[in-house]
Amino acid sequence: CAVFGIYGHEEAANLTYLGLYALQHRGQEASGIVSGDGDQFYIQKGMGLVADIYNKTTLEKLPGRMAIGHNRYSTAGGNDLKNVQPFNVNFAFGNLALAHNGNLINAQVLRNELEAYGAIFQSTSDTEVIIHLIAHSRASTFLARVMDALNQVRGAFSLVLMTDNGLIAVRDPHGLRPLCLGRVRGSWVVASETCAFDLLDAEYIREIEPGELVVLSDQGIDSHRPFPKVDPAMCVFEYVYFARPDSRIYGANAVYSTRKALGRRLAKESWVDADIVIPVPDSGVPAALGYSEGGGIPFETGLIRNHYVGRTFIEPEQSIRHFGVKVKLNAVPEVLTGKRVVVVDDSLVRGTTSRKIVKMLRNAGAKEVHMRISSPPIVSPCFYGIDTPTKKELIASNHSTEEIRKYITADSLAYLSLDGMLQSAPGVPAQYCNACFTEKYPIAFTRAEEMQLGL
Ligand code: 5GP
Ligand code: SF4
Ligand code: MG
Repeated sequence: CAVFGIYGHEEAANLTYLGLYALQHRGQEASGIVSGDGDQFYIQKGMGLVADIYNKTTLEKLPGRMAIGHNRYSTAGGNDLKNVQPFNVNFAFGNLALAHNGNLINAQVLRNELEAYGAIFQSTSDTEVIIHLIAHSRASTFLARVMDALNQVRGAFSLVLMTDNGLIAVRDPHGLRPLCLGRVRGSWVVASETCAFDLLDAEYIREIEPGELVVLSDQGIDSHRPFPKVDPAMCVFEYVYFARPDSRIYGANAVYSTRKALGRRLAKESWVDADIVIPVPDSGVPAALGYSEGGGIPFETGLIRNHYVGRTFIEPEQSIRHFGVKVKLNAVPEVLTGKRVVVVDDSLVRGTTSRKIVKMLRNAGAKEVHMRISSPPIVSPCFYGIDTPTKKELIASNHSTEEIRKYITADSLAYLSLDGMLQSAPGVPAQYCNACFTEKYPIAFTRAEEMQLGL
């Protein structure tokens, strides 16, 4: 998901709209904006893409000098307008709205307890638990209640909260998901990634640190450390796939260069004699450039992506083979005919797309197809906000690389090593979460959670 917040700007809702537009890649299922004028909150939400949900009329219904927004990417909770964030309530301390990127692992346990005490939930989202915990807290000030609530949840949260007096931005103690702080003409902005700042002409100030909570108000910025200190475990998959290559995340300006470095390392680890290197667009492009550079094999565009594919398309009655993938990607025969091809993608999840791509390349005349993946095999689900399927559906959780190669019908298949991935990312390898590749989850599960999550 994507979160955005702005405090102290006449055009708060308009800038939130632009910020969400720039963060569209982090969630395409739904979007919402809540603005505040110090007295009342105003809300606009819808299913689908940012550009389709908001227009001049709906944005004019969002007055006030502060706003928060959210793009939803389905992980926890169903596909329903009730689950579209920001969530907002009016309670003892006034208005409160909240937007969350990440996933809580103990939400169900907490929800059961809260419901036993009479709490009535409006959604099936894990995020709503935070609102109930704030409302139920016995702490005396609003801020103390927020800290109390957030000390009871475990998991990933980059959160933006809005009250009648200002914004609060918080990052979980491990810093699993990114969250950046900026300034635009004297007002504060927070966003999941800095590509949102670039569109607003906002200045990047710094990353909100793991375990840091900042209050943004007329008094300026106030930083707190409400959590016991733990080792950072920032999601490495943001570098591999999720974040936009032009963004700065985790304080480093390195998404693009890291992706290229992953490809260079991949070429070193699993070079193959071939005529051309092609990416699976768009996510595989920087890694394929790196492979081409590192391996000394020319880069070509052998697959073209249609960028205008909406959420639904009408399939013809008569079945067309591999229709789903062909709508999005098509091969370029004049590039591929008679060639030994290395095809680079950022990750292999179920293997179904890769299988179709290999067939498509062969149909277009490729003589050999060597699949290279710029991350290690994904063997276990992410419980921290990236939408991975269940363990059973993750092909690498129950198949060897040779079995996967056969399934996708490639001439060869190689993944990047774990060390290769971690050493290509900036900073020290230990600062990253890599649980989907290793099953080493940075947050220990209780027995009840293990049962619930099917571990
Ligand atoms: P597969 O061959 O496993 O079916 O598909 C792999 C492709 O899925 C890769 O191109 C990768 O970029 C893409 N991918 C990886 N993670 C995600 C994700 O969380 N969501 C979506 N929509 N695609 C993903
Ligand atoms: Fe990122 Fe994987 Fe950790 Fe999830 S499990 S936070 S995708 S590294
Ligand atoms: Mg892809």
